[in-house]
Order: sequence, then C-alpha cells, then structure tokens
Amino acid sequence: MFDTAIAGSLPKPAWLAETEKLWPQWKAQGPELQQAKADATLLWIKAQEDAGLDVIGDGEQARQHFVHGFVEQVEGIDFEHKVTMGIRNNRYDAQVPQVVAPLRLKGRVHAFEAQLARKHTKKKLKFTLPGPMTIVDTVADRYYGDKVKMAMAFAELLNQEALALQADGVDIIQFDEPAFNVYMQDAADWGVAALEVAARGLTCTTAVHICYGYGIKANVDWKQTLGEEWRQYEQVFPALAKSSIDQVSLECFHSHVPPELMQLLEGKDVMVGVIDVASDVIETPEQVADTIGLALKYVPRQHLIACTNCGLAPMSREVAMAKLEALAQGAALARQRYGA
Ligand code: ZN
Repeated sequence: MFDTAIAGSLPKPAWLAETEKLWPQWKAQGPELQQAKADATLLWIKAQEDAGLDVIGDGEQARQHFVHGFVEQVEGIDFEHKVTMGIRNNRYDAQVPQVVAPLRLKGRVHAFEAQLARKHTKKKLKFTLPGPMTIVDTVADRYYGDKVKMAMAFAELLNQEALALQADGVDIIQFDEPAFNVYMQDAADWGVAALEVAARGLTCTTAVHICYGYGIKANVDWKQTLGEEWRQYEQVFPALAKSSIDQVSLECFHSHVPPELMQLLEGKDVMVGVIDVASDVIETPEQVADTIGLALKYVPRQHLIACTNCGLAPMSREVAMAKLEALAQGAALARQRYGA
C-alpha cells in the first residue's frame, strides 16, 4: 500500500554536468562522459533505495533533457541547426532541433542506462520516455506539416524503444506529457490516441505523467496566471480513463488542482504528487501523509502511489536527496495512519 516513486528526473552531480539547469552542458566527452553517466545513475539508484523508495528510476542521468535525450537518436532531425521556438504555447523559448525528413530510429536510445539500472536494483524499475505530443511541442517541423501525423510518427518510434525497454526488464514505462496540460482539447482529441500507439503491445505496466512543469521561473510565473482552480486535468482525464494506460502521475501538493478531479481516473493507479518540486523547503512526513490522506478521499488505497509532482532535475542535489527521504517517510507514516 502507498508505494513510493519519483516522477523521473534527478539532479545531475556537478562532475557530470552543470548543476541546477534544465539543459545543462556535460562536463566530459566520449568514454569519460559515458562512465560519468553510469556512475551518476548508480549513485541515484543507491540514494533512492537508501531513502526507502519502492519504485526506482535511473534519474535520467544519461540524457541532457527529457525530450532531446530521445530525439537525439532519431534520424530525420537536424540537430546542427537549432532554432528558437516558443514552447508549451509560448510559455518559454527553447533552442529546438528541426524535423527535416522522415523519422527513423538510429538504433536503441536508452539501452545503456536501462540495462545498467536493471542490473543494479531488484526493486521495481520505472523508465521514462517523452510522450509524442510533448515531443512535437519541443521540435520545429519543417517536413510533416501536420502535428498529428508527426506525433504518430514519433509514437511509432517510441513504441519501438518501449518494447525494447520492456525486453531489458523494465517494469513500468512512463510517458511524460506536460503538453497535455497546455493543449487540453488536442490531448483529448489525439494526444491520448498517440500515447496508446506508443504503448501498443506492452505487457509491462504503462504510465503517463502530466504536470505543470519543472520548478523553473517560467513555469512558476505561468502558474500565477492559471487562477484559483487549475482544472486542466478535467478535460484530459476522461480520455485517459478510457485508455489502456495503467497509471497516471499528477500534481497535487501546493498545486491549485481540485483534488476531486482524481475521481475522473477511476480504475487507474494514481501517482499522487506529494512533493513540491518548485520549492526547496523539505516536506515533513506529516505533510506528505496529509496529502495522501486527502487523495484517499478520491482514490482507493490499492490504487494510490505516492510520487513527486514532477522531476527534480533543476534542484540542488542536497534538496533532492532530502525530498526523497521525506517522500518515503511520509508514505510510511500514511501506512500507519490509514492502514488496516
Ligand atoms: Zn513533470
């Protein structure tokens, strides 16, 4: 009851990459960089296990950014000539690569870190991939001329990699779709369908993470404009409830999401965000247990997983470490309080 997991990313150590940045530069190259990525992955597996988490991830230590880490292994994309594009409905500008030809995988994308992680933990292993709609929102299209067509093309490639990750022994494959909270109608119209293409044929657990973004300034400012009640999930959850995806990760603690919206996910496992990633203040176990208690009004206990609101990549390592511990301690307290 109340398994604990992180959304996905964790801070990169200072010897691996620039710290507290969303698109950090690597500190090494070639084989040295590969070794550093492996070392950082092992370090975070150990840290998650020591904290007492039930589901372990690679912390996304081997990719620069959660979208571009995948896209870098796709043929048909020009990474040499990046362009500035407003992403997430122009919330902020990003340097994005351009799609210039039909898309094809160059080969495996995440075999190295997935197999390494599998070898070094006996716990449930979750692996994250960007969702098709979010990828489409983080690249410039100079070829397809049609968002849906391009999303479906990416979904096929994601499916290829997801099936390979499953064969590597990954237990849970999670697609990250922050774009679902920005283009709600599109998400319901075709985003969920694209997601199901990405997850087609998987027999492991499948998940989707939908959030209000990392704790960076552009996102914090955007949240100020969303009003008293954030009802974005209301438009997307009914489509997800009908889908084949098993688990949904959502923001809860410190968000303005009306918690009753979790009811729209009947039948799904709900990864409830009990850790705020936009604040360096460490949650107390009592606060975490309180959030779990709140979610229990709307989510049956056997379907409730305690999670972070989003990735912890841009945070300091010390803060992230303390938040992992708070997550595990809070879930343990909740088991005492609400168990039996
Ligand atoms: Zn997120």
